[in-house]
Amino acid sequence: MKTPHRTLQVDLADRSYPIYIGPGLIDDSGLYRPHIAGSRVMIVTNETVAPLYLARVQAALQGLRLGEVILPDGEQYKDLATWNRIFDALLAQRFGRDCTLIALGGGVIGDMSGFAAACYQRGVPFIQVPTTLLAQVDSSVGGKTGINHPAGKNMIGAFHQPRAVIADTRTLDTLPDRELAAGLAEVVKYGLIRDPAFFDWLEANAGALLARDPAALAEAIERSCRNKAEVVAADELEAGQRALLNLGHTFGHAIEAARGYGDWLHGEAVGAGMVMAADLSRRLGWIDSDTLARIRRVIAGFGLPVDPPPDIPAERWLELMAVDKKVQDGTLRLVLLRGIGDALVTAEFGTDDLVATLAPTTA
Ligand code: NAD
Ligand code: MG
Repeated sequence: MKTPHRTLQVDLADRSYPIYIGPGLIDDSGLYRPHIAGSRVMIVTNETVAPLYLARVQAALQGLRLGEVILPDGEQYKDLATWNRIFDALLAQRFGRDCTLIALGGGVIGDMSGFAAACYQRGVPFIQVPTTLLAQVDSSVGGKTGINHPAGKNMIGAFHQPRAVIADTRTLDTLPDRELAAGLAEVVKYGLIRDPAFFDWLEANAGALLARDPAALAEAIERSCRNKAEVVAADELEAGQRALLNLGHTFGHAIEAARGYGDWLHGEAVGAGMVMAADLSRRLGWIDSDTLARIRRVIAGFGLPVDPPPDIPAERWLELMAVDKKVQDGTLRLVLLRGIGDALVTAEFGTDDLVATLAPTTA
């Protein structure tokens, strides 16, 4: 079977890989086969995604010796104990180094499976089959894998690139609206940090995206993946510009931590966080009020929050933001904007301006 699709390449020398985007791709055995080394494949998924899509992936891989691990659903299970169940299954079924893992699900499954692939017998190949918008535009591309520790999110992990990413846009049909909006936050992010024409396009096509118009979604996914692939190709291990992908995330992570993980979705926190980054940029005189208002309007238009929860005191914000991975020698650095499509990582902001952004009623 050959399904029409778009293909992008992530250029990383001998670790380069394709991203396939299109409707119905999970059924296309021809997309998986070239990326499967041996004859044994372990599909890792969760209790929500398995009843929807597992049988179809199994059918596409007919003829190979398949195993499956079905994990409980939720960010709270992105932990060491649940992650270990992947190894239990691999070892119980005597999978060797010649096996391939397939991550079928959202970012939680992708991160956990990728990290398991990085570690199992010192590293085996894996394929990402992302089924949330967030995973299709962000987490499945770029090779960051890992799990959470009680002391912090994604604190244990590895860089391990997949062999291929198979993004079936039709799987988004079953995604709840709130999860779709959360994915759109990361889509808007690419426009804000490096692609002003894409930001214009998103502003003009918000209605089509929210209505899940297939052509609009495929276009948004392709342009997002192209941006992410370019950033990752230039800075795989985050020595520099890859940090720009964290726009809104320092504020967002603080919101998630303050509310308890799971209350606000990650993309929702990033939506409000990007508006906060724009607000601070405006206070510094780097963008004007009209640009701030436009950013706010576009993010709100996707059904995302644009204001942080009102009840986090400034001291708590600063405490939560201090654990950010971009903190260097005790100095907080943030991704801020000099315009739409023009972002930078900087520590050049005053505490007064930052506090005014955190607690706007006192401004
Ligand atoms: P998720 O994996 O928890 O998925 C969201 C929900 O949607 C879950 O309940 C899931 O079971 C369900 N779901 C998945 N596909 C579905 C479908 N097609 N239909 C119906 N329901 C479906 O969350 P997410 O937003 O996909 O990913 C968030 C995770 O990704 C976080 O752990 C975050 O740290 C990680 N992440 C990683 C990177 C990276 O570069 N590795 C980047 C961004 C985010
Ligand atoms: Mg993110």
